[in-house]
Amino acid sequence: MSKSIQIIKEDSKYLMQSFKRWYPLVIDHAKGSIIYDVDGKEYIDMNSGIGVMALGHGNEKIINAIKEQMSNFFHYSLTDFYYELAVDVAKKLTSFLPFSSKVFYTNSGTESVEAAMKIARWYTKRQYIIGFINSFHGRTLGSLGLTSSKTVQRRGFSPLLPSTLLLPYPDSRNPLLKDDPVNRLMEYIEDWIFEKVVDPNEVAAIFFEPIQGEGGVIIPPEDFVKELRRVTYKHGILLVVDEVQTGIGRTGKMFGFENFDIMPDIICLAKALGGGLPLGAVVGRSEIMTLPLGSHANTFGGNPLALAASKVVLEEVPKLLDRVNYLGKEIIDELNNSKSPYVYDVRGKGLMIGVELRKNGKAFVDGLERVLMCSFNRGVLPIGAGESVVRLLPPLVIEEELANKGTRVIREEIDKLR
Ligand code: PMP
Repeated sequence: MSKSIQIIKEDSKYLMQSFKRWYPLVIDHAKGSIIYDVDGKEYIDMNSGIGVMALGHGNEKIINAIKEQMSNFFHYSLTDFYYELAVDVAKKLTSFLPFSSKVFYTNSGTESVEAAMKIARWYTKRQYIIGFINSFHGRTLGSLGLTSSKTVQRRGFSPLLPSTLLLPYPDSRNPLLKDDPVNRLMEYIEDWIFEKVVDPNEVAAIFFEPIQGEGGVIIPPEDFVKELRRVTYKHGILLVVDEVQTGIGRTGKMFGFENFDIMPDIICLAKALGGGLPLGAVVGRSEIMTLPLGSHANTFGGNPLALAASKVVLEEVPKLLDRVNYLGKEIIDELNNSKSPYVYDVRGKGLMIGVELRKNGKAFVDGLERVLMCSFNRGVLPIGAGESVVRLLPPLVIEEELANKGTRVIREEIDKLR
């Protein structure tokens, strides 16, 4: 029995199996954009541990920063004490925004969303929170009220957070929005939702992924995002962008919202922020970040080792944005070379890319599973999204040659679909 099979058997015996793995990769170690499994096989990393390892694996600058911090101290809770590193990273993070802002640290995406919901309710003194269908904001009981990329995520866990409401995302595949998603959706929000369901004066915030990630790399029309910003300003509703997946350079801009020429009120971050260590953050306009003393905190948020890594990430990622855009275009061009009749759409921004597979007008779920499994067998690691989208989120530092090689294998496996 191979070591991989042995570990997978034990995994199913000792770990709750509430998540679905696409293929049986058992990682041993990794360097740059190459993953090595426990049986000695090599793979090209085309998912970055789901959008986390922006600077690749084993980055020397990150290792050195963590080592140095380790010899100072590992942990001393920000909830009760102070340290300079927390200020340094917050200074750097807020320097990317043109307005005065403040930071709250968490350990994950879902915690950032939870904190943002509390901040929005407190600041506005309003209750309702609006999200979008097919979005992903996390799986804890608060954020789950906004998550709806698959029913299995919600089924059996209700009641979810009261006073949450989900709207259609401006997705032209939605038959109700066909032809004119922006105007149809804005009319729906203003003339139906705000007239008949909830008074906009009771809405604290609208949570929005600048590009839906788990939902299938869905990019909204720029006009819609601008309209959403206009309407939220008009009614004093906070616009919270969930940049857990799109943030920190992934889309070729520091933050995903910059692709749409708007400014949000609150930004939720995690994934790439900690360079592979657990770190999340809420960054919001200073006047909004006003939860009262003692009302919100966590033991580990802003862990010093994670912050030491984050400092490197925030210094290095801005230098990579041009190559992220360039490589992303190359990858999209190669995927567009596919002759497969099952490619419904190739889309993306920067290095957040999806290929939607459809057969007979429906999601080609088996096709997605086959492409992922066969790519894995050939040493390439893309991941799935939505119902049938092959998702590529390679490290932002991936070598051009590796990115092209990995993409070619994925494209060839798509072309083999029957
Ligand atoms: N928001 C978005 C946009 C995400 O993509 C994710 C994770 N896929 C989350 C929130 C939740 O992050 P975490 O798994 O760290 O809780």
